[in-house]
Amino acid sequence: MGARLTLDHLLWRMRYAHPDSELVAAGTAQRFAEAADSIENLAHTLRSRWEIGGGDTVAVLAFNTIEHFRLLFAAPLLGAAVHSLNPRVPADSLAAQAFRPYPRLVVVDETVLEHRSVGANARAAVAELERAGVPIVPVRGLEPAVPGAELPEPAEESTAFWFHTSGTTGAPRSYPVSHRDVLLHALSQASAEASGLRAADRVLALVPFCHVNGWGLPFTATLSGASLVLPGADLTASNIAERLRRDRITVAAAVPTVWFEVCRRLAETGEAPPPALREVLTGGAAVSQQVVEQVRDVLGAGVAGAWGMTETMAMSTYEREQPGVHTGRFAPLVEARVTAGRLEVRGPFVLGDPDWFDTGDAATLDAQGRLTLLDRHKDLIKSGGEWIVSARLEQRLCAHPTVAEAAVIARPDPKWTERPIAILVPERGHRIEVAQLRAHLAACFPAFWLPEEFTVVDRLPRTPVGKLDKRALRRTHTGGGSAPA
Ligand code: AMP
Repeated sequence: MGARLTLDHLLWRMRYAHPDSELVAAGTAQRFAEAADSIENLAHTLRSRWEIGGGDTVAVLAFNTIEHFRLLFAAPLLGAAVHSLNPRVPADSLAAQAFRPYPRLVVVDETVLEHRSVGANARAAVAELERAGVPIVPVRGLEPAVPGAELPEPAEESTAFWFHTSGTTGAPRSYPVSHRDVLLHALSQASAEASGLRAADRVLALVPFCHVNGWGLPFTATLSGASLVLPGADLTASNIAERLRRDRITVAAAVPTVWFEVCRRLAETGEAPPPALREVLTGGAAVSQQVVEQVRDVLGAGVAGAWGMTETMAMSTYEREQPGVHTGRFAPLVEARVTAGRLEVRGPFVLGDPDWFDTGDAATLDAQGRLTLLDRHKDLIKSGGEWIVSARLEQRLCAHPTVAEAAVIARPDPKWTERPIAILVPERGHRIEVAQLRAHLAACFPAFWLPEEFTVVDRLPRTPVGKLDKRALRRTHTGGGSAPA
C-alpha cells in the first residue's frame, strides 16, 4: 500500500526525507533516522510487554521529553491512542479525565510526580488510577524489547489521540482525533503562511504536549523536517533563554505569558538576544502590543500570533503584520464565518465536522479575511495559558459558612493575560476573612487558581432571567464590559 494519511508516513519522512534533522532533549541529540528507529522499538515494547493494540488507550503524564515524544508516535502506530494528561488541572478533574477513556496503561514520568508545583496534584491522580487497578509504568520502565512481527498498519480513521475540551462549565469532555486528522492538520500547519516551518529550522516546543499535542508541533516538525528541541520540566525564563541561545533555536512556540517572562528576564540581565531566533509563535490567548514590541526589541524576532482552540487542534489562524491587533487569516482546510457576532468554524479536523462548530468567541472577519477577536462568551478565565474554571471557584466559595453568594471574574493582567478576582456577599451576621477563604480554596485548587483579590459587596447584579450578570460585574470591577480580547 502507498503513503496514507497515517503517522507511519511521518516516520517515513523522518527516515528517508530528513534523516539528518535532529531531535534534541536533555542535552542529547538524535538524528531523525535514529529517532524513527527508537519510536518503532517503543511500539514493539508496548505490544510485547504491555499487549497494547488496536483500540487501546495509553495515558501519559510527562513533560515535553523525548520519551513523551516517542509515545506520541509509538502507540498510534499500533492502532492505539495516546492521551496526554495535564498535571496542571485540579487532582479530581485530572483523575476524572484520566479515565475518559479508560486507559490500558499509564506511563508516568517521575519528574512530574516530584515537581514542586504540580507534583502533589499528579500524585493524587496517579493514586486514584492505581486504586482502580490501571497498570502504572514509570517512563524508565519502558526498556526496548526485541522486535517481534511487523507492526500493523493503522487505519486512517483509527483514533490516534484523545483531547479534552475545556467547555463552558469545565466539565471534562473528551473526544477522539484520528490519524487522518493529525496528518491533514500537520499539512495545513506546515504551509508557508501558517507555521512556515522549514527543514533548516530548529524549533523549541514549549507548549506542553497535553495541550493539543503541543499545538501539533511534533507532527508539523517531522513532516517538514524541522529539527525539534524539547525543553523537559524546566520552563523558567532563564532556562528558556539558555535553550534559545545554546540550541540555536530559530522558531519557538509558547503562550504570550511565557514571552512576557522571557523578554523581562533578558531585559533585566542584559543578556544578548538569542543568536538565531527568527520568529516566536504565540496563541491560546491575546498577545499584547507590549509583548510584540518586546519580542522584537529584546529577542530580535518577529511574532506570529494565532487564534485556535482545542476543538480546532489549535493554531487555526496566523497573523504576522499586526499580531497585537488581529489574529490573522485562517490556515488551509479551516473555514470560518461570523453568525450574529459569533465565530463558527469547520474543517476536516475541526470537532463536529462537517457541521459548523460554534466557538463561543465573539469576533469579526474583515474584508481582507483577517480575524479579530472581541470577547469570549464563556466565563472561563485564562491565566498563563491554563484555564481557571470560575464556576468551580464560586461553588467552593459558596460552600464556606461566611459566604452567601460568590462571583469570580477575569481581570486583565499584563503578564498572565487574565487573573481571577472574587466578589462576595457575606452570609448574614458573618464577616469575611480573606486568609480563611484563601486556605479554603487552596485545599482544593492549584495555587494559580486563587483569586488575586476578594471584594465584599451587598448584592450581586443579576440579568432579567436571574443569572449572575458577569458583564455588569466586569464593568464595575475590572473597568471593562468584557474580557480582554
Ligand atoms: P482552548 O480551549 O484551551 O484551546 O482555548 C480556546 C480559547 O482560547 C478560544 O476559544 C479563545 O477564547 C481563546 N483564544 C485562543 N487564541 C486566542 C487569541 N489569539 N486571542 C484571544 N483569545 C484566544
